[in-house]
Amino acid sequence: MVAELPVEKDRHGHIVVDGTMRCPSHPEVWALGDCAAIPAPDGRPYPSLAQHALREARVLARNIAGVLDGRTPQPFVYTTLGMMGSLGHGKAFGQLLKVRVRGVLAWFVRRTYYLLQMPGWGRRLRIVTSWTFALLFRPEIVKVSLDSEAALLLREAAADAGLKAFGGVNAPYIWVKTPESLTSWQMFDRMLRELNVVITPGAGFGAQGEGHFRISAFNSRENAEEVARRLGTLR
Ligand SMILES: Cc1cc2nc3c(=O)[nH]c(=O)nc-3n(C[C@H](O)[C@H](O)[C@H](O)COP(=O)(O)OP(=O)(O)OC[C@H]3O[C@@H](n4cnc5c(N)ncnc54)[C@H](O)[C@@H]3O)c2cc1C
Repeated sequence: MVAELPVEKDRHGHIVVDGTMRCPSHPEVWALGDCAAIPAPDGRPYPSLAQHALREARVLARNIAGVLDGRTPQPFVYTTLGMMGSLGHGKAFGQLLKVRVRGVLAWFVRRTYYLLQMPGWGRRLRIVTSWTFALLFRPEIVKVSLDSEAALLLREAAADAGLKAFGGVNAPYIWVKTPESLTSWQMFDRMLRELNVVITPGAGFGAQGEGHFRISAFNSRENAEEVARRLGTLR
């Protein structure tokens, strides 16, 4: 988007602005952050860093409001507070003003700094709680599944067809009792012949599965709806 703007850019493609972040060629255009080359008092552009972008935003907001009120915009002047980097596993390094820190202390300072950058104490509390949990407990890998929605749909369709259905709640499978004391393989044949739907015969899971069959919801919403519709035609 920046590349296509008809404003002056430097050799890195950054929009050329003056110290107040205003475009000299188009005074109605202001730019900041990574897309702008904002000159520091020594003439060199500020680095493309978040700590600069955040502060540039505040000065720029004041400048735009000031210009609208007829005041002279002020240049952005900022001395880098330091640098920090994470190494993971509770380790980091950094330089805060002139003080070098590393290890757990740097990790803690870095996290605390980022935490305080989050807007609102409610959000900060939520984040710090989540971080603390992550420190104390192993991550719990869960499958975020949209299949459960299709599973519920199929379960309801089976129930509407007069079948006794189980499962399908927070699970991708629906277990259904075969009607009329059919064996699970007889039901397999019937579902295939009458509805053109493939199910899994319960007997395939062992003797306890006999008399039941399984419908899988691992499918698209459209296919699940189609199977639900066909279940409604089961006689
Ligand atoms: C991997 C990485 C690590 C970094 N680590 C650090 C660090 O440790 N410390 C530090 O100070 N800085 C770091 N930076 C730099 C820092 O992220 C940037 O300097 C800062 O985010 C710049 O802010 P910005 O608002 O200019 O741009 P951005 O934060 O990039 O925001 C631009 C926004 O505009 C949106 N956007 C883009 N195109 C369009 C469009 N056409 N329409 C609508 N929206 C659009 C983007 O989705 C984005 O949300 C890092 C950058 C990277 C890439």
